[in-house]
Amino acid sequence: LQFDGVPMFEDDGSYRGMLFLLQDVTEIRRLEAMRSEFVANVSHELKTPIAAVKGFAETLLAGGVKDKETERSFLQIIHDEGERLNRLIGDILELSKIESKRAPLEYAPVNIKELFDGIYEMMRASAAKKSIVLVQDIPEHLYIEGDEDRLKQIFMNLMSNAISYTQDGGRVKVDVEVIGESEEEEKVRVTVSDTGIGIPKKDLPRIFERFYRVDKARSRSSGGTGLGLSIVKHLTELHQGSVRVESKVGEGSSFIVELPVMQSAEPEI
Ligand code: ADP
Repeated sequence: LQFDGVPMFEDDGSYRGMLFLLQDVTEIRRLEAMRSEFVANVSHELKTPIAAVKGFAETLLAGGVKDKETERSFLQIIHDEGERLNRLIGDILELSKIESKRAPLEYAPVNIKELFDGIYEMMRASAAKKSIVLVQDIPEHLYIEGDEDRLKQIFMNLMSNAISYTQDGGRVKVDVEVIGESEEEEKVRVTVSDTGIGIPKKDLPRIFERFYRVDKARSRSSGGTGLGLSIVKHLTELHQGSVRVESKVGEGSSFIVELPVMQSAEPEI
């Protein structure tokens, strides 16, 4: 609690009394602490790729690298780290837009099957590179009311994680079903499951936090930003939905997103 007192005076200058203001600043302090932690994390995350770009470029400029193959591999690193910086900045901006509520959702009926056809198209190449089989079981004529670009982002993030954290030759599957007792409670449940490395039990409660990773090195080498799941969580909640995870180390993970079939009213944003 913060306690402030100011003296009050009458128009003629005589003392009238004190005005006391008692304010609960716990929430403000908590948000301030979160913000400064976020800034510290962001700076750290940006420094790593920048250091790599600088270091490898300097080595090349110094002319110490003679064989073409090493030169190429250094250039590849510079390129990849540049890409990662780009993604990182994109994710940070996206997250801050969502959090400051400056990004109103554009609601329209979205056909889930078509949404996933588009996503599969974009994911095919990275799955093929690892010989990962993509499977889907999605009803043809199912619509949800939502922001198509945001929905796409939710499922792209989940699909690209599933591919990144699954060994070569594995399988990634999307199941969509309607759940709910009555028509008013109807929801669409989308499950993105993989046969990948899984997530240790102790990490499960934290993986939706910004920059939280089970294995930093692995996330980096797969080009991850550590922000994907936190964006997924924010966006599903903006759609009045929820997301949760079930996972077993060495067996695989399932991310389960539930969204209302139809929004009855425009949500507050
Ligand atoms: P990243 O960019 O590191 O993938 P995310 O926010 O998308 O960041 O995910 C956070 C962490 O959760 C990842 O670093 C990884 O450790 C873990 N994770 C996410 N999806 C999966 C998955 N399908 N299988 C195993 N681990 C996962």
